[in-house]
Amino acid sequence: MRCNLCGSERNKMFVERIYSFKNKNYNLVKCLKCGFVFVEPMPSANERREMYSEKYFEDNKVSGFREKGYKDDEEFYADRYKLILNNLRKIKPSGKILEIGSAGGYFLNMARDAGYEVQGVEISKWAVDFSRKKFGLKVFNGELENAKFLDGNFNIVVAGNVLEHVENPMKFISEASRVLQKNGVFVVEVPYFINSPYFPFARFLFGKLIHVNPENKEFLEFMKINKYGAISLPYHLYEFSLSSIRDYLKKNGFKIIKIDSTFTEPSLKYSSAVNLFVSAVYKSVNLLMKVFGIKFCNITFYAKKMK
Ligand SMILES: [Zn+2]
Repeated sequence: MRCNLCGSERNKMFVERIYSFKNKNYNLVKCLKCGFVFVEPMPSANERREMYSEKYFEDNKVSGFREKGYKDDEEFYADRYKLILNNLRKIKPSGKILEIGSAGGYFLNMARDAGYEVQGVEISKWAVDFSRKKFGLKVFNGELENAKFLDGNFNIVVAGNVLEHVENPMKFISEASRVLQKNGVFVVEVPYFINSPYFPFARFLFGKLIHVNPENKEFLEFMKINKYGAISLPYHLYEFSLSSIRDYLKKNGFKIIKIDSTFTEPSLKYSSAVNLFVSAVYKSVNLLMKVFGIKFCNITFYAKKMK
């Protein structure tokens, strides 16, 4: 399989059988030329459509980090969106926002309250109906390319946790650039996790906690994928890093103006002693990240379209 970032066809196994869907196993491979990590084989368009039913939004608790599913967890998402809106207010305080992968519309609803004109694109029919009914939002149901927006139609394009789900990130970013005005702002948030130094550490930490709370199996089993076989579906087709996002943005004529990183504490409940311990670990890691400028787990790039 050809690397989407550099075009090389040479790669090596990175994590074997990390995902499985309908009796098919999926590996992660690493490009030998640029180091980019991606899933192999690539799930087909039909397979991907099947993976994003209502169940995805009900069951997907941020890979088991959260007690509640998407529908009942608006507050959690609101905290993250506040950060993005605070940054946007400083960079571009007004204008038209397009959110690609607008899910149930939590971000667009908040952005509209903050004074922006808002529009969304979302592949899940269920999520589109939810955002139309709950918030009365204008959302196109389908892929970005099929929405046929005019060149330079938006001042801001936001894609939060969506780039890792699309088949062709290069095409996606180039399309995001096309619909942006010159000097428009592209906000792109991706997980930087399995290929980060954090992953072995988290697997070690949470691998220990399975003895304390056997209820939170999803996340804990996910952490043990190498030992116990694939649990999760191939939702994430690409594993980004600081340098791969930089390369993607540069190749598409963007200039990076800000990089943020968050490491969110899980809402899962262990015994109170363990909760205190987990909380202390997260707070310490966040402090270390701040002091040493380490960025991983969730990275958000703010980039300006230069031409
Ligand atoms: Zn490559």
